[in-house]
Amino acid sequence: MSNINIAIDGPAGAGKSTIARLVAKKLNYIYVDTGAMYRAMALCCIRAGFTADEKEKIEACCSDCTVDIEYVDGEQNVLLNGENVGAFIRTEEVSQMTSAISVYPKVREKLLDLQRNVAKNNSVIMDGRDIGSFVLPDADLKIYLTASVATRAKRRYLEQMEKGLDVKLEEIEKEIEERDYRDMHREIAPLVVADDAVVVDSSDMTIEQVTDKIVRMAQSI
Ligand code: C5P
Repeated sequence: MSNINIAIDGPAGAGKSTIARLVAKKLNYIYVDTGAMYRAMALCCIRAGFTADEKEKIEACCSDCTVDIEYVDGEQNVLLNGENVGAFIRTEEVSQMTSAISVYPKVREKLLDLQRNVAKNNSVIMDGRDIGSFVLPDADLKIYLTASVATRAKRRYLEQMEKGLDVKLEEIEKEIEERDYRDMHREIAPLVVADDAVVVDSSDMTIEQVTDKIVRMAQSI
């Protein structure tokens, strides 16, 4: 049987990675977190001391680095120049840098082959912003997972509080809105609802409900 590809796109904090990871486990597919790949490149640029507006330096830095993924016990690790950078890519600084540099063409080109190859060789559920609309236009199932800004901000707020971080709900809301705006309005591969995507609004749904819904859709492919 040929490989099945599921694309799951949507704005920041909609729960894509949590849901995609669970769906992947249930279906025995590989979960591919493309945001982590962009985050690794953003980390590379931060470490090099560049700011997001230095387009040429950023593009050169991203062209020169290597980004790979590997799977350990079913979990994706992202490797930057061979180093597992999972522990460094989830900060707010990296989030903002990632969304700022992912508007640049060479930054996006860099990851395209890696993403397409993994989908060609495996059954995957791949999450991101442009998966259904651009990376895997022929995906067998496309989900656009969203939730209201208030819901997404609240979820992120609770997550951060649990980690013992001192955060403000209004600030998180503002950061989410900024990131959504940039991701939706960039010239190349912006976040859009692909024509053939199923929109799932998770504002009033539990993680289990969303997961079951997507698994059911996947089983009827
Ligand atoms: O999904 P995550 O929040 O980790 O993504 C971080 C940022 O990476 C997004 O805000 C977006 O700017 C960028 N991204 C992208 N295309 C993808 C995945 C992520 O531009 N396929």
